[in-house]
Amino acid sequence: MKNFNGNFCIITYGCQMNLHESEKIAGILSDLGYNQTFDQNNSDVIVFNTCCIRENAEQRAEGNIGALKKLKKSNKNLIIAVGGCMTQQKEYAKSLHEKFPFVDIIFGTHNLEDFKELFLKKLQSKKPVISIEDKEGDVREGTPNLRNSFPNAWVNITYGCNNFCTYCIVPYVRGRERSRAPQDIINECKSLIKDGYKEITLLGQNVNSYGNDLQGVNFAYLIDEISKIEGDFRLRFMTNHPKDFNEQLIKAIANSTKTCKSVHLPVQAGSNRILKLMNRRYTREDYLDKVDLLRKYIPDVSITTDIMVGFPTETEEDFLDTVDLVETVKFAGAFTFIYSKRKGTPAATMDGQIPIEVATKRIVKLIDIQNSINREQSKGYKGKTVEILCEGFDDKKKMYLGRDTYGRMAYFSSDVDLIGQFVNVKITKTGGISLIGEVVK
Ligand code: SF4
Repeated sequence: MKNFNGNFCIITYGCQMNLHESEKIAGILSDLGYNQTFDQNNSDVIVFNTCCIRENAEQRAEGNIGALKKLKKSNKNLIIAVGGCMTQQKEYAKSLHEKFPFVDIIFGTHNLEDFKELFLKKLQSKKPVISIEDKEGDVREGTPNLRNSFPNAWVNITYGCNNFCTYCIVPYVRGRERSRAPQDIINECKSLIKDGYKEITLLGQNVNSYGNDLQGVNFAYLIDEISKIEGDFRLRFMTNHPKDFNEQLIKAIANSTKTCKSVHLPVQAGSNRILKLMNRRYTREDYLDKVDLLRKYIPDVSITTDIMVGFPTETEEDFLDTVDLVETVKFAGAFTFIYSKRKGTPAATMDGQIPIEVATKRIVKLIDIQNSINREQSKGYKGKTVEILCEGFDDKKKMYLGRDTYGRMAYFSSDVDLIGQFVNVKITKTGGISLIGEVVK
């Protein structure tokens, strides 16, 4: 139904899940006849796909939406839509409408697949279209995708989350966990590989609990089945939950020739007291056991993590437990965050909120430790030849870039376009987390 002409632009905040959902919105608009642009001034439709996991993502989105008031004044036909996790909160959607009455469509996470209907409704009405569904629906198949990440492709396997970590807003804005049928996932992967994609990342808030709502399948089964697909491709997945990361799954990863030797296993904190308050449902000892098990089956596995500092009541001693865990595991990378108070979550009303100056000091120390671990690990790469999937070209560095099976980024020069190809790169220079090398035959 390509009835429209014009350009659309999507601004995405937050995680891979959101980036992939933006590909679905892009697919819907592209099916209607619009072309994608990254220039807001040259757009007929601008969509904000928002995130509410941290306060600063919300503030940035609001600032950028507010800045469009001028553009809307000069182009009355411009359609502005705001969707995602922020607007899934009904109260927030209402206040957004009051604050920015020029926004034409407000929708949530539960009705993203209805974006086409909402968009067409808006075209027939002068009034804004505001539609927030209270409840998540069943898994829906068949939404078009306009992928922007070749040679990588994201594939949803679950939606929502049942874990209710006390700091996290996700279960409230994305609903309970629902798994896609295995055959739908496998068929999507097959078709992506046929189309030339070289890396598939399976997505879910907790991929390890895939299949809990289905009969006779689990995440290990899915890894096995996808690994049987013929073709030259890599398989990654995110994100994992240590409580569900079990031996059967570790064996499936170890036995799969397609699965990368890289696991993102968010620990969040190294103190048992804090982990309990976070409702993570594992202890530091459980976590360290999982790391040992992983390294038993895949000795050279690279483990990355998420760590939060400044959770309510976190003492210096708790923080030092986190530091100790980081120094023990020696992560290949860590996404570090300062706790961000999210209204509606249990942690937001806990006593003992940590002053920002204290949390900042802690995160600076943690980043410093992690960086020095990464510098040490990088040294081991010097002189080695690694297989890199070339993912893109860095305009600033004027070099191609890509990752090895461990997820380590390498930059290299080439006279020919190598995007989408596996190339052997000899590492000649190592710095922080990324590497520089030259292509070898
Ligand atoms: S597992 Fe915890 S942190 Fe992750 S999405 Fe679910 S509630 Fe949030």
